[in-house]
Amino acid sequence: MTELNQPDVTVLGAGIVGICSAISLAEQGLKVRLIDRDAPGQATSYGNAGIISPWSVVPQSMPGLWKKVPGWLIDPLGPVAIKPTYLPKVASWGLRFLAEGRQSRIQDISDAMDTLNRNSIELYRLHLAGTGHEDLLQDSYYVHAFRDKTAADLESVDYRMRRERGAPLERISGADLRDLEPALSHDFEAAILIKGQARAVSPGRIATVLADKLRRMGGDICTQTVQSICPAEGGGWRYVTASGTEWTPKLVLAMGVWSRELLKPLGVKIPMESERGYHVSFRNPGISLNHSIMDMDMKFVASSMEEGLRVAGTAEFAGLDQPANQKRVDGLVKLARALLPGLKADDSHTWVGQRPSLPDSLPCIGEVEGLPDLFAAFGHSHYGLMMAPKTGRLIADLVKGVPLNEDITPFRPRRYERITA
Ligand SMILES: Cc1cc2nc3c(=O)[nH]c(=O)nc-3n(C[C@H](O)[C@H](O)[C@H](O)COP(=O)(O)OP(=O)(O)OC[C@H]3O[C@@H](n4cnc5c(N)ncnc54)[C@H](O)[C@@H]3O)c2cc1C
Repeated sequence: MTELNQPDVTVLGAGIVGICSAISLAEQGLKVRLIDRDAPGQATSYGNAGIISPWSVVPQSMPGLWKKVPGWLIDPLGPVAIKPTYLPKVASWGLRFLAEGRQSRIQDISDAMDTLNRNSIELYRLHLAGTGHEDLLQDSYYVHAFRDKTAADLESVDYRMRRERGAPLERISGADLRDLEPALSHDFEAAILIKGQARAVSPGRIATVLADKLRRMGGDICTQTVQSICPAEGGGWRYVTASGTEWTPKLVLAMGVWSRELLKPLGVKIPMESERGYHVSFRNPGISLNHSIMDMDMKFVASSMEEGLRVAGTAEFAGLDQPANQKRVDGLVKLARALLPGLKADDSHTWVGQRPSLPDSLPCIGEVEGLPDLFAAFGHSHYGLMMAPKTGRLIADLVKGVPLNEDITPFRPRRYERITA
């Protein structure tokens, strides 16, 4: 590589977080290179449920959750699964996860989530403006549907947390729910509407459209598998691919769950687990949905997308690189039929992805402590689509050295090692 085309900053990983980071870096006037082993946005960022919510401020781990986990684990249709041979490996992560759900911790986590999600819709609209694909984001409610009407309680702790941070909520009856979403089963007795949301009608295509925008902004996108990274003598970073070793002044690590393995040889231990999730997309469903729907009993989401009607969910702990578990796929189809009795389920496509999850539901964002010029942008668990634009803005300011208005200490990459910057 010649001095002339040398980037100011290299982003590893072209998932939605890497793409949004690269765009914000380019907006700061920096020359950006974005590297992925695959086409942009085709891993975890492709198959998610498409929810973009300023009001996703409820952590995954909440007080009392531990009481529900055993029941979920023994139910073959339950939202959580652990591969038995993986149990010893995930046990300490699981204990940390449950500990993060203590009463004294959840409000701080919620505030940190708020920092990343609050302007998510507006920031996406800015990214998409002028691309000709603004309609990839649509206004939506998030409909939480309950079979037992007494469970649809606006005073429960999770809805209170949302309301305290400004979420417009409304409780509706089963009859009103059927007016809003005629395709839903009549088993649902009530729903809570979270308003002021958006939904992506094709998360994968959003990534493609934004990657094209990055190219038009002068960004360079390379298809390469990164094998390792290390600090260079005299400053900056080296990264190794099959084509050789490259140098970059600043490096952003945005490889989702795969970021952990690149950091290990540097002595950085991130407790990040692959929380596998599945989707089934019905190509000719015969019905459609107007909003994002969460079946609150079985914890999965349904939404009409460009590719078909998509149901997405499951948190399966089995490690990286395991084949898809057909039982989880079959379970999702069964759940989809129960949610949507008129669904035509014969023509479907299935997908498995890896949520990059830390015990506190928060990502790692910022310069990695003890490793100058290496910036973390990974670990967005269930919220990477919605948190990506704000993460990108923060990364761009950090790389450029612009003072931040936000407190990013909750996202310190090495917070679980108790290392101070
Ligand atoms: C079922 C399901 C539903 C979800 N629903 C939602 C939702 O509704 N809303 C929401 O906000 N979030 C949702 N999520 C979470 C969201 O999808 C993720 O948090 C997000 O996609 C993570 O993005 P990322 O860019 O960090 O990682 P990824 O999209 O995984 O990108 C990482 C990139 O790194 C690349 N890479 C890996 N290793 C290498 C290497 N060695 N060399 C080069 N490149 C490499 C990969 O190819 C990949 O493109 C859901 C997730 C799942 C599984």
